Amino acid sequence: MSHISIAIDGPAAAGKSTIAKRVAKKLEYLYIDTGAMYRAVTLYVLEHGDDIIKDIGSHIHITFGINDEVYLNDKDVSAEIRSPEVTNNVSRVAAIGEVRTYLVDMQREISKTASVVMDGRDIGTTVLPDAEVKIFMQASPKVRAERRLLEETARGNDIDLETLTAEIIRRDEIDSTREISPLVQADDAVLLDTSHLSIEEAEAEIIQLVEDKLEVQ
Ligand code: C5P
Repeated sequence: MSHISIAIDGPAAAGKSTIAKRVAKKLEYLYIDTGAMYRAVTLYVLEHGDDIIKDIGSHIHITFGINDEVYLNDKDVSAEIRSPEVTNNVSRVAAIGEVRTYLVDMQREISKTASVVMDGRDIGTTVLPDAEVKIFMQASPKVRAERRLLEETARGNDIDLETLTAEIIRRDEIDSTREISPLVQADDAVLLDTSHLSIEEAEAEIIQLVEDKLEVQ
């Protein structure tokens, strides 16, 4: 049986990972958080310097645990990659060609081994252009900042709404204007605005799209 790929792209904090994770669980597909991969590389670069990037493959080994933990060279870095320092540097590191080539190759290899729900910025346009279902997930900046505030507070991070809004807007700007595979909606992606949708409603919309698509194939 051939593997199915579902691509979910969109700006920061649009709800991609929360919903993608649930869709993957429901369909029994593998969930791949590509943002976590860029974050893991950023963590390593912050600790070891930009010089390692030219030979990135010999320095960095990224794997996922069964509960979506992220391992960098066999160390669980799931919490560290969400730090403000990593968040503030990730878009710069993610714009570097060698970093993208390395991670895109890895993401494509994973998609050959299993059916996947993959979320990121360039999945539908670059990583998996032949994905069976493509979703571009949006939400208003206000809703996105409020969601991030809840997440950060739950993690024990003391940060205010204004700072988060500025960080989201700045990251989207860098991600959308970079030269290599910028954040953009693929021509054949379905736009899903989650501003006024519950998690369950957004999940149900995607499951419906997948069912419709797979039935007609
Ligand atoms: O999804 P998340 O917000 O954790 O992604 C962190 C950053 O990683 C993004 O702001 C973007 O710079 C980068 N990224 C990317 N391409 C992807 C996924 C994430 O450039 N496919």
